[in-house]
Amino acid sequence: MSNAGFSSQNGAGGQPYANGPTQGAFPVQPVSQGYGLPGQLGYHNQVPAKGPMPPGPGLYNAAPPVSAYQGSLMPPTMPVRPPMGGPLPPPMQPGQTPPPSQNSVPPPMATTNSYYPNAQNPPVSSWNYGPRPPPPMGMATPPPGNHVTSSPSPVPNPASQGFSAPPPGPNTSMAPGPPLPPSSLSSWSQPGSVPPPPMNAMSPQPYQYGPPPTGPPPPAMRPTPPPTMPPGTATPPPAMPPQNEGMRQTHTPTSQVPNSFEGGEGGYTHPPTSQPGPPLGRPGGHAYPSLPPGYQNTAAPSGMPPSHLAPPYSAGPSAYQQPSMGAAQLSPSLAGLSLQSQTPDALRVVNLLQERNLLPPTAITPPTPPLPQDIQKLNCHPDVFRSTLTSIPQTQALLNKAKLPLGLLLHPFKDLSQLPVVTSSTIVRCRSCRTYINPFVNFLDQRRWKCNLCYRVNDVPEEFMYNPVSRSYGEPHKRPEVQNATIEFIAPSEYMLRPPQPAAYLFVLDVSHNAVQTGYIDVVCQSLLENLNALPGDTRTKIGFITFDTTIHFYNLQEGLSQPQMLIVSDLEDVFLPTPDSLLVNLNECKELVQDLLKSLPQMFSKTMETQCALGPALQAAFKLLSPTGGRMSVFQSQLPTLGVGALKSREDPNQRASAKDIQHLSPATDFYKKLALDCSGQQVAVDLFMLSSQYCDLASLGCISRYSAGSVYYYPSYHNQHNPAQTERFQKDLKRYLTRKIGFEAVMRIRCTKGLSIHTFHGNFFVRSTDLLSLPNVNPDAGFAVQMSIEENLTDMQVVSFQAALLYTSSKGERRIRVHTMCLPVVNSLSDIFAGADVQAITGLLASMAVDRSVAASMSDARDAMTNAVIDSLSSYRTAVLTIQQPGLLTPNCLRLFPLYILALLKQKAFRTGTSTRLDDRVFAMCQLKYQPLAYLMLMIHPALYRVDTLTDEGALNVNDRTIPQPGVLQLSVEKLSREGAFLMDAGTVMYLWVGRNCNPQFLTQVLGVPNYPAVPQSMTQLPELDTAESTRTRAFVGWLREQRPFYPTLHVIKDESQLKANFMQNMVEDRTESALSYYEFLLHVQQQISK
Ligand SMILES: [Zn+2]
Repeated sequence: MSNAGFSSQNGAGGQPYANGPTQGAFPVQPVSQGYGLPGQLGYHNQVPAKGPMPPGPGLYNAAPPVSAYQGSLMPPTMPVRPPMGGPLPPPMQPGQTPPPSQNSVPPPMATTNSYYPNAQNPPVSSWNYGPRPPPPMGMATPPPGNHVTSSPSPVPNPASQGFSAPPPGPNTSMAPGPPLPPSSLSSWSQPGSVPPPPMNAMSPQPYQYGPPPTGPPPPAMRPTPPPTMPPGTATPPPAMPPQNEGMRQTHTPTSQVPNSFEGGEGGYTHPPTSQPGPPLGRPGGHAYPSLPPGYQNTAAPSGMPPSHLAPPYSAGPSAYQQPSMGAAQLSPSLAGLSLQSQTPDALRVVNLLQERNLLPPTAITPPTPPLPQDIQKLNCHPDVFRSTLTSIPQTQALLNKAKLPLGLLLHPFKDLSQLPVVTSSTIVRCRSCRTYINPFVNFLDQRRWKCNLCYRVNDVPEEFMYNPVSRSYGEPHKRPEVQNATIEFIAPSEYMLRPPQPAAYLFVLDVSHNAVQTGYIDVVCQSLLENLNALPGDTRTKIGFITFDTTIHFYNLQEGLSQPQMLIVSDLEDVFLPTPDSLLVNLNECKELVQDLLKSLPQMFSKTMETQCALGPALQAAFKLLSPTGGRMSVFQSQLPTLGVGALKSREDPNQRASAKDIQHLSPATDFYKKLALDCSGQQVAVDLFMLSSQYCDLASLGCISRYSAGSVYYYPSYHNQHNPAQTERFQKDLKRYLTRKIGFEAVMRIRCTKGLSIHTFHGNFFVRSTDLLSLPNVNPDAGFAVQMSIEENLTDMQVVSFQAALLYTSSKGERRIRVHTMCLPVVNSLSDIFAGADVQAITGLLASMAVDRSVAASMSDARDAMTNAVIDSLSSYRTAVLTIQQPGLLTPNCLRLFPLYILALLKQKAFRTGTSTRLDDRVFAMCQLKYQPLAYLMLMIHPALYRVDTLTDEGALNVNDRTIPQPGVLQLSVEKLSREGAFLMDAGTVMYLWVGRNCNPQFLTQVLGVPNYPAVPQSMTQLPELDTAESTRTRAFVGWLREQRPFYPTLHVIKDESQLKANFMQNMVEDRTESALSYYEFLLHVQQQISK
């Protein structure tokens, strides 16, 4: 077997890897480029990424000519405030704990401390958002590279500014590099726990297919709008590419082929089936929801941000009663689109130097694309699928001109309280590009539909004519597939190449002295004992355990034994499985033995003196054990691995933690973990790493085991059962969530988009199998993904484009399922329309991912410069190309008003900050989270939410399940917003701080904290007491409500002035100046200075 597959695409073997396909569809990987074990079959059928590729030029010519939909929305000029006399005074400084030099006067508007000495040169984008250098399309396109390509820039005058290092990082020169270096750091999920969501969140109510209508055929076929494309183009292309070549060849009964390659997902044509009537043998299948398929965020911990409390789809009383918006009506609707759906507020001009209070009082909602309401109503929810630009530029040249990144952010396996599930013998897909039928296709008539991605005209299968929901015939556009942008199919057998694997869980535990001392083994065993019956699975579920120190210990759990048997393997060079058949056992059959083991394990090593640990060999053993089935490997590790393969040495120099220079050792020290991860991926094994360490443990190296196997990393620095109760509490809650949340096995995800658009770099944890196919041995509901996109061909004739993410996985019950999300966005041809649709949070999230890659592949200063330049470039473009009336100040469109603030927050974030002491592992973990977190949680990590909580009232409160939830306003992150008389809650996503002022309202101290006075507030307080007071009830309701918005469990720290954690709290005050970083106002001045050059 050749390794060509991953070495070429994912860069194993030490090559710089492009974890993301290179641009342009190089269509097919060579067959049988498996990366599995020798002797095992790898992935055989490398089907072209987008289905049989070359349908000939004629195929795509069917694009409908569009004339009616003009993008120009509104005059770009809006009244602005008259300029004020000068810069605002600096933030006022409350008495306590001022950051140094806080009171100093901001630098004058035009200072000489330019970071970019080449003042003559216009700012140059420091990274290309597209995969190629921008074509010289009639505009002066600067070469890719950073602003500065020649001499190092002068350091800002510290004396006049009061900070010691330029925040955007050392501004050394750098060669214009390749567009964007591929990622080489993994990103990982947030540990989490909170009550688990329902196993399968879809409505369980099965829908009974009625018999097909008999008697006279449904008479009047509904007249459908005429085809909107030119006559003649509706004909399918003559040369019908064979759909299933490759697949059938390898689909032999003897093939031991993992399930999840694109077989079903990709270019596979399901055999023509024509069995209307009840499908057989799918208990609980064909379940249609009885409620409208929305994303109601009620009690279920679905992780909605606060802004989405209201059911987004509440407008529709029932999805199936919505007007039949299939795309049949798409074009007419668009034709009549008067664009009033676009909020003009997005383009209101804001002078950032004048307007200080830019944060909305409540959470920020994503922009709504300017689509007709009936289309938008069907669109995919932004929590699941989101674009940085909700209006897609017509050309790459236009995109380049806007200097905004184009990309998608996905949360594809998010827990949903309502999910329509369809069982059907035929899953209707485009015969050319394999797109799943969706709400945005175009029904030409009752028998034909036109694909919204490749424009091929397809036949409507006979079965699709019958709507099981309404039990009516002849209205294919009312099928649930055409009424729901998020839907799940139960896949028929052709989507499987082997029987779906059972749920398989292998736990690998470090039992060296160091690990045992932390006490974590008790927590893991206890949590497993409590949740053993809640592990997702069925009667086939398998479980196994491996422990390791200087040797590797296996546990024979075979049915019939009176107690578990420990088997020790001390040969670390050539690890073997002592009794391969009885180490990974059926959980149901061997539950008592498993429970015995979990009860005795914590004591078994309590006296150990082994300080070494052989993580690498243990991982190899675990891989061998899980390889035949695939599954999930959960690794608990407490220190640097010291023995055998994969042993590591400390690379961190504590003296460099506060360095303002470039950060070293962000990339792995060895490729052992990455290579093993790729082996795991090939055998459908994902590795989750729980790092419980007080010392440096080289997450940059160890994390690769999870990154490339689609696992997650959880990190508990300074973990100790007794000494660190907050950490222990988080670990317990995270474990519960981890063990009981939904899981998908042997998964692949493919992202398709309308022809002309192209997907390139991916961000997240996965292995890129082919140009648009991600291999995900496991998929979990807390994982986010991002992709960058470019515009390959002009979208001139298009009104809208669509994006579709299809996730094919095996459920823990052994069902093959496909979850499909489709998003439709308008195409625009003016810069002002592009800016009007900018989604500042999505842009920030994508830039954060790109910057992580950049800091690893190039340097931290490079990444920091690039982020700063992203602001400068886009606002510069806005000023010169959108604004028609020039005026002084730093001007942004309203929708981007938070862009500089978010970027400054990123520069001060643990991942990217310099000049502030930051442990290397903490930094690497933050980078992982930036790439792996779904956007809603990511934003809290970047820009925490600050609330005053000693004055909570019921005014404007929410009412959720009979609980009254106060809704205090969000405050700016500046000490000027604090007061000694108050108490303030900071929600930073994974952690919350409740800062109590020295003169805090005594009422709050007694009624909420249960202490008589300020000195009595404990130094370490992580719980709010349950007091029977209105204040306590309100405060706990608010904190509890915030926690319910996310699936993992943020710990709460009550802090006061003396607390050690106060520094963490203050470091999140991103608007303030620190010794090493600019204040927000200074940053704005810097940006303005660069723009006006
Ligand atoms: Zn198609």
